[in-house]
Amino acid sequence: VLDANWAVKWLTLCAQAMAEHRVELIELDRAIGDSDHGENMDRGFQAVLAKLGESTPETPGAALKMTAMTLMSKVGGAAGPLYGTAFLRAATALGDSAQIDPSAWADALAAARDGIVARGKAESGDKTMVDAWTPAVDAARAAADGGSTDVLGVLVAAAEAAEAGAVATDPMIARKGRASYLGERSAGHRDPGAVSSALILRAAVGAAA
Ligand code: ADP
Ligand code: MG
Ligand code: MG
Repeated sequence: VLDANWAVKWLTLCAQAMAEHRVELIELDRAIGDSDHGENMDRGFQAVLAKLGESTPETPGAALKMTAMTLMSKVGGAAGPLYGTAFLRAATALGDSAQIDPSAWADALAAARDGIVARGKAESGDKTMVDAWTPAVDAARAAADGGSTDVLGVLVAAAEAAEAGAVATDPMIARKGRASYLGERSAGHRDPGAVSSALILRAAVGAAA
């Protein structure tokens, strides 16, 4: 079940993933940005880990709200406010429920994506993290609406769609963020924020498995 324990495990696995993929995210951002995405995300999630060491959240929503505040203050750059808004909107969507069912997970992902779009104004195809989140939202919604009561299946569907979405940014020309300064030269590189987003959604699977 996706309860507060699951949320703590998810965030812990996010921190692990950002540490493990730090260099990869730095290299991706070196190609089309300013080489700091891996550092930013690692710093942010290490701070989340430190907070989890201080107090244990009682609900998934509380865990995500704490994460939002921490990422906003520690990540910086474009990604900090975007992920901060995403986690805050997801927390609000979950409210104080003790558990997340398939439909609630789809709603939380949609709220997160809508928050990213509200903040960053990127559309699908602009070569940003939105290109990982939108397919994830659609896949989770489809799995949940298909009557899946298997929450693990819904988590997997979202993670796989986000991973495919990140790969699909390769040929895109960036229209938002630093990468957009490169214009057509941004094509042929994967968007770092789409990759970190897929890592976050993959960690959600690991926490439930
Ligand atoms: P910065 O570009 O300020 O150095 P990061 O390197 O941490 O920040 O994050 C870059 C990532 O942020 C990009 O790969 C992209 O996915 C995401 N991003 C940037 N601008 C936007 C935007 N307007 N909307 C959505 N995502 C964006
Ligand atoms: Mg950067
Ligand atoms: Mg930067």
